[in-house]
Amino acid sequence: MNNVDIKKTGEKYCMNVFNRLPIAMVRGEGSYVFDADGNKYLDFVAGIAVNVLGHAHPAVAQAISEQAHQLIHASNLYWLEPQVQLAQQLVENSDFDKVFFGNSGAEANEGAVKLARRYAVYKEHPERKTVITMKNSFHGRTLLTLTATGQDKMHLGFEPLAPGFKYAQYNNLNSVLAALDDETCAIMLEPVQGEGGVYPADKEFLRALRQLCDERDILLIYDEVQTGIGRTGKLFAYQNSGVCPDIITLAKALGGGMPLGAFMAKDRVAQAFKPGDHGSTFGGNPVACAAGLAVLHEMLAKDVPAQAAATGAYIKERLNEMIAKYSCLLEVRGEGLLLGLQLSIPGADIVKKCLERGLLINCTAGTVLRFIPPLNISRKEADEFLQILTDVLTEVCA
Ligand SMILES: *Cc1c(COP(=O)(O)O)cnc(C)c1O
Repeated sequence: MNNVDIKKTGEKYCMNVFNRLPIAMVRGEGSYVFDADGNKYLDFVAGIAVNVLGHAHPAVAQAISEQAHQLIHASNLYWLEPQVQLAQQLVENSDFDKVFFGNSGAEANEGAVKLARRYAVYKEHPERKTVITMKNSFHGRTLLTLTATGQDKMHLGFEPLAPGFKYAQYNNLNSVLAALDDETCAIMLEPVQGEGGVYPADKEFLRALRQLCDERDILLIYDEVQTGIGRTGKLFAYQNSGVCPDIITLAKALGGGMPLGAFMAKDRVAQAFKPGDHGSTFGGNPVACAAGLAVLHEMLAKDVPAQAAATGAYIKERLNEMIAKYSCLLEVRGEGLLLGLQLSIPGADIVKKCLERGLLINCTAGTVLRFIPPLNISRKEADEFLQILTDVLTEVCA
């Protein structure tokens, strides 16, 4: 089928919840992806910060294929070698001791909230049920993570929301203190707000939250679903600030494109869970974990996070130069290859014009162009991106 036929069929049979662009993706190779009509695009979306090693990476594809021939699924009634190996790799390369695997970011965040509430009970504070999250955050689309998401527009029409959440202003300690009370069990935030428009947390804010949590024996949870696995120039974004949370959640990049989520905790927290407290039929699936192992191996062997830091710094510098030239550009934000370009105008038209010129970018929060390419993009590909963006900006807002 071609682009038009796939779109028509999709409109007839798929629920109408996504604002999809009018093309269908059929193949990918490195930093490029091809639609059903054979058009080629430089991919600065990477499946929404998922394809960290680009498309069809040979090591990832081979790991998936070999594991699929070996064992696709057996459930968590048994030990699974790829799952325990990936858990070991994640623990040995982080400050955490135990891992739980699920299938998505929302599921990882739900699990983290369950663990935080169970930890409070374990520490004989059953009254502590509330999680403080940040305004403008994004934590997922299930009812609980939708509630955790501090954006009214996403709540509208889905009430009653899940109880047990309070909201504070990001990077504003006083606002967190105002939300804090004897029922608080955890503070949850993204080290860089991704969907909300690419806003990094201040280091002092994170340090203050850490201190607050330590004083009260409540938990600091980082939602690293978007920032995790190299995106911000370190394997985990918490390593940029030196402020380590008690629980970290992962998903997007973790499975190299396979659906895989996880949360990790230190032993003193993880021990609050007992057999039967949490579970998942597909979680830690052998094929997804084999892909995750291949990603992590490549990431560490080639120091891909350092590549992301270097390429990100280069692009950020060029974008900052463009701000002086184009009246519609206000600010560049972000770390590594999670970059946001704040516009003074809506971004949808720029996204469309880039698409027409063979570049995929994404607009979030209405007026922020978000750049989240594969982490191993070359300097030449970065320059190609900058050229197309420059051409489009010249047309739209010179
Ligand atoms: C994408 C995202 C989620 C939700 O992940 P899903 O896999 O879509 O459930 C949660 N938190 C953050 C920070 C994200 O970027």
